[in-house]
Amino acid sequence: MNSDDIKRLEDKYIADTYARYDVSIVRGEGATCYDAEGKSYIDFTSGIGVNALGFCDPGWVRAVAEQAGKLQHTSNLIYTEPCSLAAEKMIRLSGMSNMFFCNSGAEANEGAIKTARKYSHMKYGAANEGAFNRYEIITLDGSFHGRTMATITATGQESFHKDFSPFLQGFAYAKANDVDDLRAKLTDRTCAIMIEFVQGEGGVNELSRDYVRALAEICETMDILLIADEVQTGVARTGRFMAYDHFDIKPDIVTAAKGMGGGLPIGVILFGEKTKDVLKHGDHGSTYGGNPVVCAGANYVLSRIDGAFLARVRENGAYMKERLLSMRGVSEVSGKGLMIGVSLADKTPVEVVRGCLRGGLLILTAKDKLRLLPPLTISREDIDAGLEILERVVSAM
Ligand SMILES: *Cc1c(COP(=O)(O)O)cnc(C)c1O
Repeated sequence: MNSDDIKRLEDKYIADTYARYDVSIVRGEGATCYDAEGKSYIDFTSGIGVNALGFCDPGWVRAVAEQAGKLQHTSNLIYTEPCSLAAEKMIRLSGMSNMFFCNSGAEANEGAIKTARKYSHMKYGAANEGAFNRYEIITLDGSFHGRTMATITATGQESFHKDFSPFLQGFAYAKANDVDDLRAKLTDRTCAIMIEFVQGEGGVNELSRDYVRALAEICETMDILLIADEVQTGVARTGRFMAYDHFDIKPDIVTAAKGMGGGLPIGVILFGEKTKDVLKHGDHGSTYGGNPVVCAGANYVLSRIDGAFLARVRENGAYMKERLLSMRGVSEVSGKGLMIGVSLADKTPVEVVRGCLRGGLLILTAKDKLRLLPPLTISREDIDAGLEILERVVSAM
């Protein structure tokens, strides 16, 4: 099929929920992919932070293909090896206590919300003779937590709320990086605070160290659960295994998804000491969660992450930021590791994305910024080649 054929079928048969660019990708290798006509693109997107090892990393392909030829699925009433190995690595690398497998970021956040409510119910519900009222979850303005009803309610952006009411009860929103506002939103009903350390969809906005440390201390003293949404920031994206590692804190619940599977659908909820025994038989489940093929891919991704891997993500991120800052047309950069936001002086992000596509570079937007999420394994040559295309586009008069 050529690009026009693909586009015609999708436009006709798929609901119009995505403002798509006029590109059809048919194959890829590392940080390069190709459209149906053979035009090549450098990839600064990894899907949206998903293809952590780039396109079709040979070791990842082998792990997934071998598992698909051996055992593709069982129910969760049975044990499987890939699931056990991926879980063991995830717990060792994250320092959390145990975990639950699901299939996406939103699903992981749904499970985190359920867990927080049950933790609070078990601990504080009975004291009120069943009148359970400690269920409120505070999230931050500008946050993004997913597309299901609970997670759009948790998402602190009005644009995701319009048209879909009524919403879940028990959510409140606080200004990011404003401890006073957070304190003002706390009530005796608050059971959890859910945050992204770097807001991804919200515009690559970083939480400050002081804010995160103050927030973690409030959670600790008041027995409020700290839920870290690491769906975009997690699994090495920011140059540490989890973004919370930058702050020397330990959340009570962590969700991860995107980069963990290396390209296959996965989501996880990681539980800390307070929450590891909250969910019991029948409380939660997922037909596909922990799928052996998906877990074989995740297991391979996790097997590649060590100190040297993380250091390279940090170095390449710092290098990209420095080069971006020196470009005419770039006013500011934000983010950590290989999660980078770029503020433009005089162009709109969408027009830059279109220009980059014409020049052979895939790149994302986040609110009023460009967003770069290249494969974590991208080479200096590919970084330079992509930045050259970007510079031509952003600095053109
Ligand atoms: C992408 C994202 C989600 C939603 O993940 P899905 O897999 O699309 O459901 C949730 N939280 C954050 C921070 C994300 O970036």
